[in-house]
Amino acid sequence: MSTTTDPSASDSVKGIFETMDYGPAPESDQQAQAWLERHGRTFGHVIGGRFVEPAAGERFATVHPGDGRELARVAQGDEADVDAAVRAAQEALPAWRALPPHQRARHLYALARHVQKHARLLAVLEALDNGKTIRETRDIDVPLVARHFTHHAGWAQLLESEFAGYRGVGVCGQVIPWNFPLLMLAWKVAPALAAGNTVVLKPAEFTPLSALAFAELALEAGLPPGVLNVVTGDGRTGAALVAHPGLAKVAFTGSTEVGRQIRQATAGRGVKLSLELGGKSPFIVFDDADLDSAVEGVVDAIWFNQGEVCCAGSRLLVQESVAAAMEDKLRARMETLREGPSLDKAMDIGAIIAPVQLDKITRLVEQCRAEGGRCYQPSWAARPGDGEAGLYFPPTLLADVAPASTAAQEEIFGPVIVSMTFRTPEEAVALANDTRYGLAASVWTENVNLALDVAPKLEAGVVWVNCTNVFDAASGFGGYRESGFGREGGREGMFEYLVPEWEVELEPYGEDALVDPAGGDALGLGGGGAERGESASGIDRTAKLYIGGKQARPDGHYAYPVIGADGAHLGEAPLGNRKDVRDAVEAARKGGAWSKATAHTRAQVLYYLAENLDARAREFGERLRSLTGASSEDAGREVTTAVRRLFSYAAWADKYDGAVHATPYRNVTLAMNEPWGVLALACPDEAPLLALVSLTAPALAMGNRVVALPSPRWPLAATDLYQVLDTSDLPPGALNIVTGVRDELAEVLARHADVAAMWYVGGAEGSAMVERESADNLKSTWVNHGKRRDWFDARQGEGRDYLRHATRVKNIWVPYGE
Ligand code: NDP
Repeated sequence: MSTTTDPSASDSVKGIFETMDYGPAPESDQQAQAWLERHGRTFGHVIGGRFVEPAAGERFATVHPGDGRELARVAQGDEADVDAAVRAAQEALPAWRALPPHQRARHLYALARHVQKHARLLAVLEALDNGKTIRETRDIDVPLVARHFTHHAGWAQLLESEFAGYRGVGVCGQVIPWNFPLLMLAWKVAPALAAGNTVVLKPAEFTPLSALAFAELALEAGLPPGVLNVVTGDGRTGAALVAHPGLAKVAFTGSTEVGRQIRQATAGRGVKLSLELGGKSPFIVFDDADLDSAVEGVVDAIWFNQGEVCCAGSRLLVQESVAAAMEDKLRARMETLREGPSLDKAMDIGAIIAPVQLDKITRLVEQCRAEGGRCYQPSWAARPGDGEAGLYFPPTLLADVAPASTAAQEEIFGPVIVSMTFRTPEEAVALANDTRYGLAASVWTENVNLALDVAPKLEAGVVWVNCTNVFDAASGFGGYRESGFGREGGREGMFEYLVPEWEVELEPYGEDALVDPAGGDALGLGGGGAERGESASGIDRTAKLYIGGKQARPDGHYAYPVIGADGAHLGEAPLGNRKDVRDAVEAARKGGAWSKATAHTRAQVLYYLAENLDARAREFGERLRSLTGASSEDAGREVTTAVRRLFSYAAWADKYDGAVHATPYRNVTLAMNEPWGVLALACPDEAPLLALVSLTAPALAMGNRVVALPSPRWPLAATDLYQVLDTSDLPPGALNIVTGVRDELAEVLARHADVAAMWYVGGAEGSAMVERESADNLKSTWVNHGKRRDWFDARQGEGRDYLRHATRVKNIWVPYGE
């Protein structure tokens, strides 16, 4: 540690001037200790507005990582505790939801004020329980917590006008990690309460104290009992919470591994889910960057909060020509960092949370050394475990690591940065995106054109230009890829806690449902499919698949008969298999031109599609009549509604813009609506043309490349579209269509790593399957849980909800001023 102060040197003013050594600058922990004492250093859960004993009477110790001393004993929650908390939240929900928005806004504002009033208690408690420095808890964590509640008091106030047609989702289960205990609480609790929901929160086992203190303050501030419940415990408590059937929403921040488990545990339950997971974020320094600023940026990127930050800039990518200069400056700066007791106001780096985390960091650094990486630590660095009390790991730079090495790919979650070099901006982007994560990125250059060219190419939810680790309640935060899905903060974050009223009103498919039950029998496959071309008429009327802008025969050469509602054999549809699905995804992956096309171009193509479909309206109407048995009038209405819907999304293509968030720094924070890339969708049987168009058009309008599984029962409504597509200037790969047994094909898409998002409209089992099977690659899913939409109703079948699900928000922070 760099904390030792020579007593003789500090004896006199002269001595201090000579050594310029730091003296100790401790923050008093008196108030926090008094609070702990007042509770007898023993806590229960906060359920229904009071502290309650854990059902099983079990407790565990929470310690100060700086010296291992026990701070308090807290309750180990079990299923009974979780159940009691969820019940309390359920009981509190109707009254809280019924409060006029202004009253809820007042409650949130009161929470913000109470945080400000008790800022010192909270900052010290946080520094004690987590080991992070008081400088950070006092200047960053606690002010941001207050800011979050103030900002969301505003959303509560404006709920009815700004989110008309939406309502709170219900009881929310929230599981948070130990790295920003109080801040993560605020990120989750503030939007949930603002939207009219009630909450059960499980803080991390290592850091439960600030959540308990906050819950107590909330009661003092007049928050009604049961609106916020806190159940402490370890991972088992978290697992019990996310498994509880009383939840309508689960929000999680933590490791990718646990995120996957939670995706599995919530699959098929109709629970809304947001996951904020790990990262390995790039910090890119171009040769024209202000290197001194960039070095300070690195300090904030990786040594802030001991590097225990999900969006830490942990991969330093430096343009080759300035790599040596950057490294020299960085090493010099590392010498001046100070690591030590968290309550010393002059410390930069505090203690690591727990031995298990220190072991993980040590192991990964040793592994990197063994693999030949150069390892730099400041000269003052004591090796961890060298007799110093506390869990400290020195700031560490691992240079010359290979991009594929463990150190460059694994989230170390400690004060360790790996560095690599690049030559060109293209190489920088390729290296930056060479990760399974996608949480954040930082770009350093004095050239605004270069910064704004690179930012959209980075696969990350947040991009900071010439800054790093800047957060604000008005700006969304969240990841791409294995960093999870959903956003916290800003307008986009509010949607995570709201549901559209039209979705709430949907009814399950009835007995007469036309939903594909997933088995081949429903498609008349009998023994598994007919050889291609065997039609009743003897004429080969087998439709094909549509892949990469061309009609393609199915890999298995099998087809299945398409039977009209009146029993007539109307033709054959190809029986696509997993190979066809993979080919379709590959074609979509290569169809990047569509995502790069301007919104105007996309609008033109959609108008053209509408025009060409309209020109053949009679033919499509006839087809629909024979397939579904609809009256001529209804079949005609389906076609005209499909044409109108294409017009709507052509109109939206250049109007569903992003926003510039009003963050309180000298920043332009651009919230850009980006396409997912490859978006897969599975259509229901009813309204086979209109449903396909209703799902495909918004996805295309926003620049996604689509793999669509049309109605399994009546796929000819889709295969007839091929000629319309061919004549409408849609580039190859933008829309790919695979017919067959929908749920079998949907499973392949759900598992496919190159499919970034998936929509499924069909049965409840299929919905559950898509959520479950996508857990491994953590794609964002939007499923209907077996509820039937009326595609003719514009409220249910079109609009902003579709556009929102067709995009993900990237926030790009660009500072201004000299
Ligand atoms: P976890 O993901 O295990 O913990 C996050 C939260 O989830 C904690 O409250 C934890 O409880 C709880 N939890 C654990 N298991 C389950 C489960 N099966 N169901 C529901 N909740 C559960 O992270 P760790 O604390 O174990 O840290 C491990 C690694 O995760 C770190 O080394 C780091 O790489 C990464 N991490 C990433 C974070 C991020 O912000 N992205 C934050 C924290 C860690 P409890 O802690 O009480 O066991």
